Amino acid sequence: MRGRWLVPALMLALAACGGEGPQRTEQGAAVQAEKSFRWKLVTTWPKNYPGLGTAPEKFAELIARMSNGRLTVKVYGAGQLVPAMEVFDTVSSGTAEMGHGAAYYWKGKAPAAVFFTSVPFGLNAQEMNAWLHYGGGLALWREVYAPFNLVPFAGGNSGVQMAGWFNREINSLADLQGLKMRIPGLGGEVIRRAGGEAVTIPGGELYTALQTGVIDATEWVAPYNDLAFGFHQIEKARYYYYPGWHEPGSTLELIVNQDAWQSLPDDLQAMVEAAARAVNQDMLDEYTARNHAAYVELERNGVQIRPLPDDVLVELHRLSDQVLGELAASDPLARRVYESQRAFQEQVSAYHRISEEAYFRARRLPTD
Ligand code: CA
Repeated sequence: MRGRWLVPALMLALAACGGEGPQRTEQGAAVQAEKSFRWKLVTTWPKNYPGLGTAPEKFAELIARMSNGRLTVKVYGAGQLVPAMEVFDTVSSGTAEMGHGAAYYWKGKAPAAVFFTSVPFGLNAQEMNAWLHYGGGLALWREVYAPFNLVPFAGGNSGVQMAGWFNREINSLADLQGLKMRIPGLGGEVIRRAGGEAVTIPGGELYTALQTGVIDATEWVAPYNDLAFGFHQIEKARYYYYPGWHEPGSTLELIVNQDAWQSLPDDLQAMVEAAARAVNQDMLDEYTARNHAAYVELERNGVQIRPLPDDVLVELHRLSDQVLGELAASDPLARRVYESQRAFQEQVSAYHRISEEAYFRARRLPTD
């Protein structure tokens, strides 16, 4: 038996070593197709946190099924393998092959990163997805992350967020003076210029920070996620303001270590791309379905849900334009991303005035 198998095996080996080009390629592909990959995925969210934390779990489940187990991804919540704010470096170095988080957490490493989550008074979810996938945004994102040995993908979108939870009423700009607020990204810089103090704290620590008075206010996401953290139970921070001017359509990111990415055969790369795209849309669908149910629940709990006054919004918008302009001037790559996104926003806004906005208005017109 042994002798009978030895001959074909030897022939295969010879073909692999000294055969013609095409034969060698097929052989190489066959060997690669059988190889399986076990990856680690670190996140900036608590393990299985609704929406944000379940998105990478869904991604891992999809990938395992699509690849028939050839690529398996083990998901770690914040602090399980590394702290939330070390996700970028951990994937950059290859200690974990993948990460899930938000690009604006890494603005200290790459100033242009903020544009790939959300910028104040910028694109909404539908528009972000359009810019990333059909407006050159994703190619720019890859360029920004390339020096860090990372390949980014859109990995979820929260939709328009809420302005946040406050321990005081916001009736005018004066009420923002001295306000210590957890608000990351450019929104934080805007709050600073409006007279407040902005801090970045991971989600898992927010409840305690707000309850103990370490902060006066926090933004997080929107009713679905905010209800899950129980902010409505904090007696002294009962004011819940809208809209989320600072995060009108936040994209979450799936990042892959560049070397790990290149080690994947083409079919597994295609599966990662498809699963990321699926999870990106799935999160928006889930949030759209669940935010309003949570909103009703918050109202039932006596939360004071209020709009930010127009004059406050106008001033925050003015300061946002200032902050964005300065960021663009500070870094050549940030300028290119800014200009791409801004041009896209002007065009899409013009069209959305006669499509989405006009339709929302039409739907609200009284029929009786
Ligand atoms: Ca947020």
